Amino acid sequence: MSTSLVCIDCGAEYRPADIWQCECGGLLEVRLDHINISVRELDKRAAARGFPYDSGVWLFKELVHKSIPNKCIVSRWEGNTRLYSHTKTSEYAGIKNLYMKHEGENPTGSFKDRGMTVGVSEAVRIGAKIVCCASTGNTSASLASYAALAGLKAVVFIPSGEIAYGKLAQTIAYGAKVVQVKGNFDDSMRLIQEAASSLKMYILNSVNPWRIEGQKSITFELIQQMKWDSPDWIVLPAGNLGNTAAMGKALSELKEFGLIEKMPRIAAIQSEGAAPFYKLWKSGLHELVRVDNPDTIASAIKIGNPVSWKKAIKAIKMTNGVVEKVSDNQILDAKAMIDSSGIGCEPASAASLAGAKKLRKNGVIKEGQNVVCILTGNILKDPITTVGYHTNELKKIRPAFMNPPIEVDGDIDKIKKALES
Ligand SMILES: *Cc1c(COP(=O)(O)O)cnc(C)c1O
Repeated sequence: MSTSLVCIDCGAEYRPADIWQCECGGLLEVRLDHINISVRELDKRAAARGFPYDSGVWLFKELVHKSIPNKCIVSRWEGNTRLYSHTKTSEYAGIKNLYMKHEGENPTGSFKDRGMTVGVSEAVRIGAKIVCCASTGNTSASLASYAALAGLKAVVFIPSGEIAYGKLAQTIAYGAKVVQVKGNFDDSMRLIQEAASSLKMYILNSVNPWRIEGQKSITFELIQQMKWDSPDWIVLPAGNLGNTAAMGKALSELKEFGLIEKMPRIAAIQSEGAAPFYKLWKSGLHELVRVDNPDTIASAIKIGNPVSWKKAIKAIKMTNGVVEKVSDNQILDAKAMIDSSGIGCEPASAASLAGAKKLRKNGVIKEGQNVVCILTGNILKDPITTVGYHTNELKKIRPAFMNPPIEVDGDIDKIKKALES
C-alpha cells in the first residue's frame, strides 16, 4: 500500500526507511501509488487552508509524502510564492506572455525550503538525530533553519570562500555546524556522502529522494496558479539538477493522474563556465563528462559534477525539453532587469530570464507562447555581486544597466546639482 523507493539504475525496491542510496550506488526515486485527488479538492484546500495545507508543499501531501503522520511535519508555510509579470522583463526577453515564479519568497529565501520541509520531516519520522548536506549556500541555509525548528543537529560542508555572504550568514546564525572544505562544491559533495554513512548523519542533499518530492510542489503550485492550464515552457536555472529532475517527475505525475492535459516543455539553463549538462544534451552523449573547474559568478549553479543528471535527462526527454547555456554577463544583465522591475532575485535565478531571451531569439520559443521563468532565490542572498555590478567592480563583466550610487558633499546645493545632472 505505502509508497516505495526505487533505484533508477538497477530497479531494486525499498520501503521508506533510513536509506538514501541504493546498495548498487544508484539514486533512489519515490514511486507513488495511484493517487485519487481532484483539481476541485486541491482548490478547496487552497481556499480553506489550516495545518498542514497552508504550506504550498503540504497542500499536495498525497503527491509529496502521503503516508507521513502530520505530527512529524516540520513546516514554515513554505511555498505560496507569487507569479509576476512586468512589461520591462517581457520586452527584454521579447516574450509577451512571460511570467516569473518567485521562489525567493520562501521562508529562507530559496526554493530549497520546499524540499527541505519534506526531507527534515522524514528525518524526524525515522528518528534521525543529525542531518547534513553539502551546499553552494541555499541548501545549507534551509537545512540549518528546518533542523533548528525540529531540534536536530545540522552539519554542512561548504566550499571554502565560494558561497554568497547572505547564505553563509544565515547558515551560521541558524546554528548549523559549518565545515568550510578546501576545494569546490563537487569536493564537498563527495566528502559529505562519505561522512554521512560513517558518522550516522542523515543526508539531505537532493540525492535524498524526499527532497525531490518536496521540490515537485513548485510545479504543482505553478500549474494550480495558472488554473490547471499548463504554460508552453517552464525555464529554470540548472546546477546540481535536482530541480530539473523534480519538475520532470511532477509533470509526469500530473499527467498520469489526470490533473493536466498539456505537457509543458522544460528549458534548463546552465552557466557557460559550469555547463556539463548542456554538453551532455548537445552532443547526445550517454554519460555525463564532468567539468573539473566550474567557474561562474552565479555560485548557486557553480557545479561541475551534478548528481541528478540521469533523472534530469529523463525530465528533458519526457517533456521534449531543451538545455541552453548563457554567459555570466547575460545572467547579470538579466538580473538587473528583474531587479529594476521591483521583483529582484539572486544571480543564478536570472539565468532563467537570460535563457528565455536566448531561446526566443533562436526561435526555439515561438511568438505568442506562454513562458514561466523560475526565480530560484532572493535578491538579498548575494549583495556583494549586486553592488559590484552596479559599481562596475566585477572582473570580466561589462554591466549594461548600471545604477551606481553617487557621492556628494553634505551640502544641499551640491546635492541638488548632482540630482539634476
Ligand atoms: C540550488 C539552486 C539552484 C540550482 O538548482 P539545482 O537543483 O541544483 O539544479 C539554482 N538557483 C538557486 C538560487 C539555488 O539555490
